[in-house]
Amino acid sequence: MSIIVQKYGGTSIGTIDKISKVADKVISEKNNGNSLVVVVSAMSGETNRLLNLAKSINPDISGRELDTLISTGEQVTISLLAMTLAKKGHKAISLTGSQAGIFTDDIFNKARIDYINNLPIKKYLDLGNIVVVAGFQGITKAGDITTLGRGGSDTSAVAISVALDAKECQIFTDVNGVYTTDPRISPGAKKIDQITTEEMLELSSQGSKVLQPRAVEFAGKYDVGIRVLSTFEEGTGTIIKKENDDKMEKAIISGIAFNKDEAQLNIRGVPDQPGIASLILGPIADLNIDVDMIVQNVGEDGLANFTFTVPRNDYKVAMQSLKESSKKLQAKKVKGNNEIVKISMVGVGMRTHAGIASKMFSVLAENNINISMISTSEIKISIVTNEDNLETAVNVLHKEFNLDK
Ligand code: ADP
Ligand code: ASP
Ligand code: MG
Repeated sequence: MSIIVQKYGGTSIGTIDKISKVADKVISEKNNGNSLVVVVSAMSGETNRLLNLAKSINPDISGRELDTLISTGEQVTISLLAMTLAKKGHKAISLTGSQAGIFTDDIFNKARIDYINNLPIKKYLDLGNIVVVAGFQGITKAGDITTLGRGGSDTSAVAISVALDAKECQIFTDVNGVYTTDPRISPGAKKIDQITTEEMLELSSQGSKVLQPRAVEFAGKYDVGIRVLSTFEEGTGTIIKKENDDKMEKAIISGIAFNKDEAQLNIRGVPDQPGIASLILGPIADLNIDVDMIVQNVGEDGLANFTFTVPRNDYKVAMQSLKESSKKLQAKKVKGNNEIVKISMVGVGMRTHAGIASKMFSVLAENNINISMISTSEIKISIVTNEDNLETAVNVLHKEFNLDK
């Protein structure tokens, strides 16, 4: 029997009624002769509710206790789904991350999966169960509960697919596939039938929330196919795999992603000397804060300006650290802005087509959209602008690059 891993997101299991519909879908796939492992998220809104409870005690809360708390949302849905499957006459068992042998490192709130002991899941599958596993969570070697970062159930599902050598990893959500951009922002967004892991990884990393980046990273590394599908309507969804089947010319741009979860920090008038970047960014890295875009410009009189972005959640802490560095370096000024958005165009076709960046900048200029930072990679161009510009910018770029066709 082939193993199929299915993952259902929060909206798909937000009520008892929806859980019942999910159970029917699971049973129908089982009736096709497959062994089923089902990974679930918490009910929609639940992880935020738990986070807000914690923040009402301490707005800057992070670490071990937070994970013990926010992992509970998934413990509710695994048991409810297992009960529903049982009521419908099917053998089912729920497993938390630790019961399912999902071992992670000890970076609380954004842990990485180190390995999965697949014996517990296999044992229950062999006994004829549908195995329902809590997404988003794992356990350290020391026995502490960890969570994998927001959207982490996707990663749980892909990692379990790898550990079980599953035939397919199906990610069921509230849209019927991956679109050229978030359909909630751009009514002209089009569904993509097939996309490479390379492009999907870039889209996810740049903010397309439909899949957690680490899930795509895993899929690419171990060559597992992912299919993104709607829980609520029939369809073939979007296949994400290493290579596209068709030999047709690739689209130059495959999609536009955006990320509103970043903040920009700026330090002005620091000495333009070797080692200055590490003096500014070293303390930030020591705080385990990921720095994304970095721009250094040389100003006048041997002084330089330095701008970088960090996750918006880390803004306050990063700002504090930058102010301390500023005193040591006798910088002229420190500034920050946490109402920014990063917009990225992604496409493997950029490798072979010149002029994409200049076209992007001129379209934005024509629409009076001011760019504060730019970064490029082989298959991506990102700009940072004020959050208010998000919808206009995405829509004009979507149209200009014919993504609505
Ligand atoms: P789930 O709870 O099922 O994990 P998410 O909210 O995490 O669902 O992800 C699905 C959402 O991702 C969609 O509702 C959509 O608004 C958003 N999204 C962002 N970018 C894209 C994209 N390119 N294609 C499809 N959906 C996208
Ligand atoms: N429940 C978690 C979250 O809201 C994990 C997930 O949905 O994938 O981020
Ligand atoms: Mg998600």
